[in-house]
Amino acid sequence: MEIKITKNTAPKAKVPANELRFGTTFTDHMFIMKHDSENGWHDAQIVPYGPISLEPSAMVFHYAQEIFEGLKAYRTKEDGEIFLFRPEKNFERMNLSCDRMCIPRFDGEQVLDALEQLIKLDASWIPTAPGTSLYIRPFIIATDRQVGVHPSHEYLFIIILSPVGSYFKEGLKPVKIYVETEYTRAARGGTGMAKCGGNYAASLIGQQKAEKLQYSQVLWLDGQEHKYVEEVGAMNVFFKINGTIVTPSLDGSILPGITRRSVIELLRHKGYTVEERLLHIDELMEAANSGALEEAWGTGTAAVISPIGELNREGNICVINNNAIGPVSQMLYDELTGIQWGLKDDPFGWRRIVK
Ligand SMILES: *Cc1c(COP(=O)(O)O)cnc(C)c1O
Repeated sequence: MEIKITKNTAPKAKVPANELRFGTTFTDHMFIMKHDSENGWHDAQIVPYGPISLEPSAMVFHYAQEIFEGLKAYRTKEDGEIFLFRPEKNFERMNLSCDRMCIPRFDGEQVLDALEQLIKLDASWIPTAPGTSLYIRPFIIATDRQVGVHPSHEYLFIIILSPVGSYFKEGLKPVKIYVETEYTRAARGGTGMAKCGGNYAASLIGQQKAEKLQYSQVLWLDGQEHKYVEEVGAMNVFFKINGTIVTPSLDGSILPGITRRSVIELLRHKGYTVEERLLHIDELMEAANSGALEEAWGTGTAAVISPIGELNREGNICVINNNAIGPVSQMLYDELTGIQWGLKDDPFGWRRIVK
C-alpha cells in the first residue's frame, strides 16, 4: 500500500513517564485512510496528529456506525527493540467488527504495515519506564453527510497513538466489583461481540452506578435472563473454582478478547483445566460464599490482568482470596507482561518486532 507521509514540523514536548495517565497524551502523527464506494479504501496517509473536519450531518454522530481496536507497543530501553503483541489478531477482530456493523472490510496486513511505519516515525514517544507502553487506537467512523438510516458509503480509518503510564502504580491491587442485575451491556444477536462505541455508551450508566457505590467495575450479566456472567467492565473475566478455571463461553454477546485467548492458551499449556461455559451467577456466589472460589480476575489489553478482591450482588458481599492477588493471577501477569516487554521467552510466537 502506497502511504503518503507528511511530517509534523512542530513536534510537541514529551510528557515525563511518571505523569502519564491513560489515553490523555497523543503523539505527533496519525494514520488516516478514506473509503468511498467508487475507490474502496484509498488515500492512505500519515499526517501530523490534529483535528479532523466533519459536517454535523456525518452519520457517525447520529447512528454510531463506528468500531475501534486497542493494542500496545512495548519497549524497555531507548533505541531498544519495539514489540507488538499478536497485532494481526486485532486487525482480524476489527474486520469481524466491520462485518457486524456493515462497514467494508480492509486488508489487515496492509494496515499493520502502515501501523509499523507510524510507530517508527513516533518511536521516540514510546515510554520505557517499567509498566509503561504506547497505546494504539485504530478506529473507523461513518462519514456520509446525511441523516437517513442506512450503512454509510464513506468512512475514515484512523490510528492514533498514546503513551500510557503503568496501569497499577502500587502493584497489582485487587478491584471491587458490583454485580449489575438491572442494566445489561449487550444481548445475543446484538453487537456485544463487536468492538463498537455503542456498547460502551450502553454500559456507562451501570459503571456510573457502581462508582457511586464505591465499586470500581461492573460484573455484567447476560441480556436475556440476567443470570449468566458475561464480562467485567471492559474486560473478559476468569474464576478459579475448586482448582478449575472457568470463563464464560463466547456466545455472541461477549467480546472475544485477545488477552482472554492468550490466558486460556497459557493456562492449558501449563496444565490447568480451563472450562469455557455458561456460568450462572448463583453458582458463582455460592462458590464465593463457601470459599470454593479461590481467585478471580479480569483480562484486557489495558490492565493485562486485573485481580478481583470483592463481589457485591445486591448486598451479598464476598471477599475473594482475602482481597489479595492470587498465585495464578500473578503468574499470568508475569508471563504475559514478560512476553510483551521482551523480557521472557516467547514460546507461542506472540511477539512481533517492529522492523
Ligand atoms: C477490548 C475489550 C476486551 C478485551 O479485549 P483484549 O483484546 O484482551 O484487549 C474485553 N471486553 C470488551 C467489552 C472490550 O471492548
